[in-house]
Amino acid sequence: MTYSAVMTTLSDNGMPQNDITKQARALLNRFYGYRDFRPGQLDIIKSIMSGRDTLVLMPTGGGKSICYQIPAMLGEGCTIVISPLISLMKDQVSGLNANGIPAAAINSGNSEIDNRNVLREAMRGKIKLLYMSPERLMVEMEHVDFRGWVDLFAIDEAHCISQWGHDFRPEYSALGLIKKRMGNVPVMALTATADKLTRDDIAKQLSLCDPFVYISSFDRPNLSLRVIPAPPKSKKVAYISRLIDRYPDDSGIVYTLSRKGAEAINAELTLKGYKSTVYHAGLSASERDRAQEMFINGEVQAVCATVAFGMGIDKSNIRWVVHSNMPRNLESYYQEIGRAGRDGMKAETTLFYSYADVATLQSFINESGQREINQEKLKRMMEYCESPVCRRRVLLSYFNEVLDHDCKNCDVCLSPPERFDGTIPAQMALSAIIRTGEKTGIQMLIDILRGSARTELINLGYDKIKTYGVGRMIPFVEWNEYISQLIQLGAVDIAYNDSNHLKITPYGQKILRGEVTVMLARRQKEATAKKSRGAKNTAPVNPAEQLFSELKSLRKELAAKEGIPPYLVFTDKTLMDMVRRRPVTMNEFMQVEGVGERKCVKYWAQFTAHISKFK
Ligand code: ADP
Ligand code: ZN
Repeated sequence: MTYSAVMTTLSDNGMPQNDITKQARALLNRFYGYRDFRPGQLDIIKSIMSGRDTLVLMPTGGGKSICYQIPAMLGEGCTIVISPLISLMKDQVSGLNANGIPAAAINSGNSEIDNRNVLREAMRGKIKLLYMSPERLMVEMEHVDFRGWVDLFAIDEAHCISQWGHDFRPEYSALGLIKKRMGNVPVMALTATADKLTRDDIAKQLSLCDPFVYISSFDRPNLSLRVIPAPPKSKKVAYISRLIDRYPDDSGIVYTLSRKGAEAINAELTLKGYKSTVYHAGLSASERDRAQEMFINGEVQAVCATVAFGMGIDKSNIRWVVHSNMPRNLESYYQEIGRAGRDGMKAETTLFYSYADVATLQSFINESGQREINQEKLKRMMEYCESPVCRRRVLLSYFNEVLDHDCKNCDVCLSPPERFDGTIPAQMALSAIIRTGEKTGIQMLIDILRGSARTELINLGYDKIKTYGVGRMIPFVEWNEYISQLIQLGAVDIAYNDSNHLKITPYGQKILRGEVTVMLARRQKEATAKKSRGAKNTAPVNPAEQLFSELKSLRKELAAKEGIPPYLVFTDKTLMDMVRRRPVTMNEFMQVEGVGERKCVKYWAQFTAHISKFK
């Protein structure tokens, strides 16, 4: 089907003009292969079709793109999509084209002749979605008349316009001009950043006129949440290795605070024989592009990266995200874990939490401009890590959303802490703090309690104090949890301005003197069995898993031939649906979720042939 054929059928489809719902659903079925809209999508589409400015807040993976792509197809003219990154545009355009939707991008990656041609086609109504950067739009607006042929401006990653957001981009500021020059063309702003301050600022900066604001739930129930307190580095790498083993054909992201941290973990994973790469701002542009490309095309199992990585990654089959260090706030954290499981299938997220990271982040804050706000955000981040209740409830409440039940998909829900009278271990720890003259950090304190013989400890003479080795029977990780609980309970303070040494508070003194008892919480072992590397190879694979894996290989092969990322052929979810339905005829293939007309024609033969051969 050519672009112009699409256009003809769109305008001549015989459906009554006013029946937008019906038309929109027909387009959704036909071009995307989806049966129905997700909550909110239709309301947003209707709002735009009535000419109203619209602000859309949905989490990553919520389905924002369809909210402007369907109006683009419903209208006669063109929709201009503003996007901050070329890679993001490329991905979106390829995805649309793969579904048979005429889309293109104008950017510095193309020749100027190509860009001029694209613009001309768009003005003639041949291109339904035209992607460009904000600075490009401003340049074009100087000498091209956008009136008459543009139906809608869709501004993706709209939080970039706000100084309050976490990713302010000065080039976005100029976008307020759109409404001033083109007042009667609706503007849609889309973002995954939820806080109210940013939200109001977006509407103001863009001069949106009485906008319809749609805020969807930010819950992503398919993402499991786990926080692991202070594992040593070797344990972190072992944990990541196990994750990769569990998803050998998929990829995940390891986020670190520093470039050095990313390099270090990458080196260890590579040494262990995993396909891993690294991404941070210290690499050259071409090295970064290459890393991103390998990740998108499924050539690596892991990318070890700083926060520089991720925006513009539309990959739908990221199965896990690990934060090797604590992120600076819950917004960043949620955005980063949100990159996993966009296809709606199960994905695992893990955060390694340590006071050493808190100290590092604290020093960033001390140097930063908005000190008070950032301080508060860090505090909320720590509260999340230390939460004794369902983490999802804590997370969603931060985004002003109430979850009225425990999620059963976070570590707290899966292994609820058991409370016990912890006065004795608390007294051991407090007494050791006193006996070192309040001059130790957590690590040293635990080493003293557990009777470690490391040189530094011996040199300081800590092996001579009375509490040396009294806590030998309690494992390191448990001590770590107890001490962080004593900090949360206000019995101990961390002096961030004094080498993170632990200090006893008046409440701590009371515990020490036995005037009050203190309850501590102990984590139970999680019930879920972890497959080890050896087990994976010997365990019998069920036929569904086998077929799924074969279809993934087929997808990879086809994608490589076309030079597009595998998830643009089909998402994991679509392959899963194929496994369930085992379609043989073209008609059956068309019923699979995520198979639209274009992809049905293109791929049904290969996939159904494979499925019918499969026993
Ligand atoms: P966002 O831009 O909000 O991060 P996307 O627009 O990329 O999310 O959508 C995430 C995934 O959900 C994509 O694979 C998309 O095709 C899919 N999706 C969107 N809307 C629907 C729907 N109505 N039914 C099924 N899948 C959908
Ligand atoms: Zn939970």
